[in-house]
Amino acid sequence: MGASRAVVLGGSVAGLCAAGVLAPYFDEVVVLERDLLPPDAEHRRGVPQSKHPHFLLNSGRRCIGEIFPGFEDDMLAAGGMMLMPSMDAAYCEKDGWAPRKASTMTMVYSSRILIERVLRDRVRRLDAVTTREGVSVTGVTTAAGRVTGVELREGSGAVEVIEADLVVDALGRGSSVPDWLHAAGWALPPERTLDAKVTYTSRWYQLPPADERPDSWWWKHLVITPTQDKAAHPEEHDYLSNFFPIEGDRAIVCMGSWGLEMARKPEAFEAAVDRVRASTFGEATAACTPLSEVHLTRSTGNKWRRYDLVDPVEGLVAIGDSICAFNPFYAQGMSSAARSALILAELLATGAARDDAFFREFLARQKESLDVPWMLAMARDQAYDFATGTEVVAPWRRRLAARFSWPVFNAITAASREDTYVEETFTAVFNLDRSLKEMMRDRRFLWGVARHQVRALLRRTTIPAGFDLGQDPPGTDYTDAVPGVNRQLVDA
Ligand SMILES: Cc1cc2nc3c(=O)[nH]c(=O)nc-3n(C[C@H](O)[C@H](O)[C@H](O)COP(=O)(O)OP(=O)(O)OC[C@H]3O[C@@H](n4cnc5c(N)ncnc54)[C@H](O)[C@@H]3O)c2cc1C
Repeated sequence: MGASRAVVLGGSVAGLCAAGVLAPYFDEVVVLERDLLPPDAEHRRGVPQSKHPHFLLNSGRRCIGEIFPGFEDDMLAAGGMMLMPSMDAAYCEKDGWAPRKASTMTMVYSSRILIERVLRDRVRRLDAVTTREGVSVTGVTTAAGRVTGVELREGSGAVEVIEADLVVDALGRGSSVPDWLHAAGWALPPERTLDAKVTYTSRWYQLPPADERPDSWWWKHLVITPTQDKAAHPEEHDYLSNFFPIEGDRAIVCMGSWGLEMARKPEAFEAAVDRVRASTFGEATAACTPLSEVHLTRSTGNKWRRYDLVDPVEGLVAIGDSICAFNPFYAQGMSSAARSALILAELLATGAARDDAFFREFLARQKESLDVPWMLAMARDQAYDFATGTEVVAPWRRRLAARFSWPVFNAITAASREDTYVEETFTAVFNLDRSLKEMMRDRRFLWGVARHQVRALLRRTTIPAGFDLGQDPPGTDYTDAVPGVNRQLVDA
């Protein structure tokens, strides 16, 4: 038998995770990437979304850590920051600034370009993996009902075919692989779509030196959620805004909205920042030095190519945005990509023949895993009348979602500050470790949220609901005010 080869199309997060899981099982793994890859953490043409904040959810951090042991340490050594959002972030929610309190959830904050650089460094160390940069994949080759390789074009224009025992499509949202497969006789996977017309506008900033920041600037991350106020208000009060810390004492100031026009030019951006409903957001931004232009994207619709609904394509799997891309507000893309890569690893580890049954099993497991983030994204995005796509729901369901999704979110976050079970359950769902369906059937969770609502009505909550958003976010630590919160667990 000849040497085995896997070919990965695309060298971004999904492609790098795929290369990591394939390396132990193939003599050779070839990653094909159209861009020339920078040696350091830099933007590149093929990943324009890197200009915007990227949260790496805990499930993603854990999955990537399974693929590349020590990933978290590498991120921290490269400048990433391990923070505890409930202590290090100031959240402006329905009732103003949320009280600050320790929890069990931590996050590694960094830019997206740093994540990719760290992953690239890890892949470079794998002997089996070769990365070919500056080559465009232009098609797949097939024989006897199976994908047998890919066709690519070099920068010089030369065309080449590479044979492969397994091809992984990690070409992102715009992947042409389904069209190439269709041209070769396979059915097009049905597309499930929902575009809630989300726009992101972001600009990078240098923070002022720490000793020039006021004492009230204890926070590292600011999050301003859309207002729930029905009275007339500036459009910016409907934004979801983030002052997102990244390595190098910098921050990405990002405003996002469902269905609104957003600023593209620096002057309009600064004016909008000043109108965000918590003035701390504008004041902090004004104290920083801009490092970039304003970056705007509307490439945010949810799109799931349902390969699981058609006959499996032997010899090929799709992972990352090429199969399922999400509204980025929910920060699910990288984590879902890493999870798909791990599913592939689990199947390769069985040593099973890579036949029809193998690819069916992969698709079934991948579908189960994608259901979790997809349902979360739908729960909110189906609330908008202007959303388009196959997953638009009846007007009464839209009204229901619009009426209840933020209030339910606010009720859960408020309850989670006083009820460790609610907090841990919601954290697991937010981080894709549990499904929304499970959470909504969890009696202990529902009871915890309801109990907190009643206590709030009776004004018997232990910690305040929120603080005046006209003031700076208060730094008081309420961790010890709540009985039953295990400080040792948190400190560990
Ligand atoms: C604004 C925004 C914010 C986001 N925020 C988050 C977040 O907070 N958290 C999160 O987890 N996810 C977030 N995402 C999603 C995340 O960026 C993706 O899920 C993640 O990058 C995985 O993508 P991928 O590797 O599948 O594809 P991509 O990152 O799109 O990479 C595709 C790769 O394929 C290459 N390529 C394309 N065509 C060809 C070709 N023909 N030949 C060779 N190479 C080719 C490209 O150059 C690129 O390197 C966000 C997305 C957007 C748009």
